[in-house]
Amino acid sequence: MIIVMCGPGGVGKGTVVARLVAADPRLWLSRSWTTRVQRPGEADDAYTYVTREQFERRIADGGFLEHAEFLGNLYGTPWPDADDTRDVVLEIDVQGAAQVLERSPDALFILLEPPSAEVQAERLRGRGDPPEQAERRIAVAQGELAEGRRLGAICIVNDDLDRTVAECERLIADARRAPLG
Ligand code: 5GP
Repeated sequence: MIIVMCGPGGVGKGTVVARLVAADPRLWLSRSWTTRVQRPGEADDAYTYVTREQFERRIADGGFLEHAEFLGNLYGTPWPDADDTRDVVLEIDVQGAAQVLERSPDALFILLEPPSAEVQAERLRGRGDPPEQAERRIAVAQGELAEGRRLGAICIVNDDLDRTVAECERLIADARRAPLG
C-alpha cells in the first residue's frame, strides 16, 4: 500500500510521519530527491540533495514515481523497491499526490491541515527558511489545502500531535483491512 501524506509547509507532516514510521515496522519512509539546498539544522538524510542537472537526468531516465516543482525547486520520489513488502509513506506536495493517485487510485491519501494560518506562519518563520521563502510558502498554503480536498484527501487538523498520529494509525489499519478500490 502507498500512503500519501500531504499538507502545507509548517503543518507538522515530518513529525507525524516520523512518529508513524518509528512505531510501525511495516512502514517505511521514501527519501525524496530535491534540488533545494539543505536548511540550517536539517538532517543530512532528510533528502537526497542533488543538482538540477542530476535531477533532470533522472527524469529523463524515468526514475521517478512522481516529481514536481515547488517554489522553484524540484522534488521527486524515486521508484519504490518492488520487492519491499512494507507499506511506503510518501511525504509529498499535492501536485505529486495527484500523480500518485492517477497511477495508484487505491493509495491512502491523508491531508494534514494547520489549526490556524497564524500557527502555521509562526512555525514556518521559525524553522530556518529565508523570510522571503517562508512568506511564499504561507501564500501557497491555502491553494494546497483546497487542491488536496478536491483530490479527495482525508483531512486531519493537526492541533494535537498524539491525536493526529492516532488518527493516522487508525486510517492505516482500516486501509490494511479493507483496501480501497
Ligand atoms: P520542503 O522544501 O519544505 O522540504 O518541501 C516543500 C514541499 O515539497 C512540501 O510540501 C513537501 O512535502 C514536498 N515534497 C517533498 N518531497 C517531495 C517529493 O518527492 N515529491 C513531491 N511532489 N513533493 C515533495
